[in-house]
Amino acid sequence: MSRPIALLAYQEADLEKQQIEADIRTTANRVKLNKLAKFIKQQQANLTKLNEDIESFNASLARQNTQYTALLDRLDLETSEFETLKGDEECTSEEMTEFRHDIEKLQREANNLEKEIKQLFRSLDEAVVEYQKTRQQGSKAKKEYDQLKVVCQKEKDDASIDLLAADRKMEELQKRVNPSLMARYQRVRQHYNTPVVEVRDGKCSGCNMSLPSLAIRRLVSEDMILECENCGRLLYADNE
Ligand SMILES: [Zn+2]
Repeated sequence: MSRPIALLAYQEADLEKQQIEADIRTTANRVKLNKLAKFIKQQQANLTKLNEDIESFNASLARQNTQYTALLDRLDLETSEFETLKGDEECTSEEMTEFRHDIEKLQREANNLEKEIKQLFRSLDEAVVEYQKTRQQGSKAKKEYDQLKVVCQKEKDDASIDLLAADRKMEELQKRVNPSLMARYQRVRQHYNTPVVEVRDGKCSGCNMSLPSLAIRRLVSEDMILECENCGRLLYADNE
């Protein structure tokens, strides 16, 4: 078909409108807003994780403290028994050695546990500091986000005037297009921003697929719009 002028004019207006919409979505402020939203979401996930860590450190600490207290009690008991045995003449030196070993073993366990508890306290402190820092950053980002959102809304409102104008232009141009052709356009438009393309060098200029020569002959001689067998776009050929 020779150049479908009315349909191409409509498509051009359609593309202009798409460009306005894309511009709204990609202003510097809008891009920053999206970035902030992502950051805030990440911070919230971090907070949840830190909170879980803190709870688990606390639980471990409670457990280890109980264990530690029990160990110290046993150590006290065994030490005082040892002192008593020292005065007992019937107690053999082997028994005394064994007893001393037991006490030393308990002492080592208590020392190790003490180290673990100190490490847990350090981890807990770090997690709490990190939690507070993350919360501060999060609330700062949230404030920034709220302010920027107002700016973005203003941009959108401003652009809506342009969008309305684009809509009106498309309405006008649509009146000049054959309705059944417009229906075909809309169907293809669901898949492509540019539903109507020219045949160039025997190829669909949308997907670059070579067209059967029969199809090209029909396009030219019967002056009709065909659909590309590969991508489904509407094809026209400039009759020269
Ligand atoms: Zn194609």
